[in-house]
Amino acid sequence: MAENAVKVLIVEDEARLARFIELELKHEGYDVEIAENGRIAIEKFYEYSPDIMLLDLMLPELNGIEVCRRIRKESEIPVIMITAKGETMDKIAGLDSGADDYITKPFVIEELLARMRAALRRTNAERSSSDSNILTLKNLTADISRRTVMFDDTEIELTKREFDLLVYLIKNKNIVITREQILNQVWGYDYFGETNIVDVYIRYLRTKIDDRFGVKFIHTIRGVGYFAKDEN
Ligand code: CA
Repeated sequence: MAENAVKVLIVEDEARLARFIELELKHEGYDVEIAENGRIAIEKFYEYSPDIMLLDLMLPELNGIEVCRRIRKESEIPVIMITAKGETMDKIAGLDSGADDYITKPFVIEELLARMRAALRRTNAERSSSDSNILTLKNLTADISRRTVMFDDTEIELTKREFDLLVYLIKNKNIVITREQILNQVWGYDYFGETNIVDVYIRYLRTKIDDRFGVKFIHTIRGVGYFAKDEN
């Protein structure tokens, strides 16, 4: 298996179709496993932890809709339903069960590949916006890509350094960080100035956030450093 290859679980009881899709996907550089019924699909979902699932609707043991419902309780991976012609009602049920898209048999492989790429792109975009670009601390929300900070619906104007300091505090919320750590991470290793620059900037943040909104986010541990507190 190639490193970092996207892992695809094909759930399909028609062995020849499953094999055909497998070969095409491997040719495109995907890593592939096949499950030939709904029960095996659930098992392989846990064992293999795929990045995307191609899920036939009509399956022995558990049908595609049931499989989709069960994995949706655990995971947000893209699921593309594979339906046969005339299964229109089932398509709607499939989307209701949490599938991201569907494709109707017979299909050309290029269409399947295009839909897989689109579904994976959507998931990656959602993941990066929910995981790394938005940070929160109680009423505060910092958007790293837009470099904005909101207290509820009020935007707080911060300088670049204040913003970086606040983000570092939020990323390490509830953990005490020393002035030296803050200097290294926010000012960089090449900073040779006074460590009390940290205290000065902490004061700026307190003025702009704690004092202005009547809250207490930034706590001082005397002689050690600071931390941003998430609990009350
Ligand atoms: Ca089938």
